[in-house]
Amino acid sequence: MNKDYDVIVIGGGAIGLATAQHLGKRKAKTLVLEQFTFVNQLGSSAGVSRQFRIPYPDEYMVQMALDAEPYWDELQKQTDATLMDKVGTLWFGDPEVHSTEGNIKEAEEALKALNVPYTSLTAKEIEEKYHFKNLPETYTGLFQPDGASINFKATIETLLELCQKDENITLEDNSPVFKITPIGDLFEITTTNGTYITEKIAIVPGPYINSVINLLDFKIEATYWNMSSAYFKKTDPSIQYPTWFVFQNSIGENGNQFYGFPSVDWDHPEYIRVAPDFVIEAIEEPNDRTLIPNSQELAYTSEWIKEHMTGLSTEPEYTSTCLIALSKIPNKELLIDFAPSYVPNYKNVVLYATGWAAKFTPFLGKIMADLALDGHTDFDISPFQLGGKFFKRF
Ligand SMILES: Cc1cc2nc3c(=O)[nH]c(=O)nc-3n(C[C@H](O)[C@H](O)[C@H](O)COP(=O)(O)OP(=O)(O)OC[C@H]3O[C@@H](n4cnc5c(N)ncnc54)[C@H](O)[C@@H]3O)c2cc1C
Repeated sequence: MNKDYDVIVIGGGAIGLATAQHLGKRKAKTLVLEQFTFVNQLGSSAGVSRQFRIPYPDEYMVQMALDAEPYWDELQKQTDATLMDKVGTLWFGDPEVHSTEGNIKEAEEALKALNVPYTSLTAKEIEEKYHFKNLPETYTGLFQPDGASINFKATIETLLELCQKDENITLEDNSPVFKITPIGDLFEITTTNGTYITEKIAIVPGPYINSVINLLDFKIEATYWNMSSAYFKKTDPSIQYPTWFVFQNSIGENGNQFYGFPSVDWDHPEYIRVAPDFVIEAIEEPNDRTLIPNSQELAYTSEWIKEHMTGLSTEPEYTSTCLIALSKIPNKELLIDFAPSYVPNYKNVVLYATGWAAKFTPFLGKIMADLALDGHTDFDISPFQLGGKFFKRF
């Protein structure tokens, strides 16, 4: 049997397209299969903006963010759209709190260890410099100037265009993969539109990870967050914020963690996006999601804005949801690995799933392409190679 493709990429979101772009650069005959349309709003890449940041509590994550920067510069050269608005990262709040994003004190240690410049801030300084108000005196913060608001929609559109221009890459949308059959050294992949033979598979289906890896008889324990988001109109047109995140203890069902963006000319320029970084209730599986944001989560966000921000209306507008799978791994780490060894030709099946990866998009695409084609990458993925521990046989 002859193969039709060197690599089939399952999932045409940000990471799938970045993976395909790097595969194409390396002249690998590549097919991207997307179950919906490209640039859809039903996966983890929904919406427009994401945060790029370097602060992380773990040095290897700081290193990954640093390593991602040249890949963003490279991608930026290939489009006229501005992919990043470099306004800096402000992390502030209760220094004792450990959230899904990390912890301020630990992040300072990790930044110091890798000689990344940042400024430590008191609550008063945060209020004076960044327009917040009524912060408890015990709050501390750090400002790291390389943080940015990512124009994620333009990033995905740029990657899509690059893939469309590359003769090594075929793109098929409205093609859900529902069957994967190992045949000798190859795999047969079946969608509603056809059957394709490939040597290698890159699995990048975002929150739908389990419905794809189940086809190879394994799964990962995950919870699913259907996250709410909103924009708030500027009442002071001159007001500007960096990208920011506030660390606070939850109050009952109110997770009390919020994050926000600057106003940018490519995303509702008269508005600022502020969102809760929690859900009141996780969902069991992607199909349980709704496209309507949780009104109580948005109410908590409005209350926080009223209490602690200036120059903004407290009325949520342009509200939306975004679905993400979070593994049950502590810190909700990214998972980058091969399939477990009981899958035939498991070294030819590479996958990325879970966690907050928009900021790594072009770099993660390179990692995935190298893993698929070479079976290894120059970047140390050992902190993310957690399948052995967390994959379960179906
Ligand atoms: C509210 C929210 C805020 C976030 N903020 C940040 C942030 O500030 N910074 C950051 O770094 N990250 C952030 N993230 C995470 C980041 O957006 C995701 O890690 C990233 O978008 C994942 O991209 P992906 O391509 O892996 O997944 P997706 O964009 O979900 O793409 C996967 C694609 O696979 C397709 N697919 C699934 N199953 C099949 C199948 N069987 N056959 C064919 N196709 C299939 C899906 O339809 C989908 O289009 C955030 C996520 C959310 C939800």
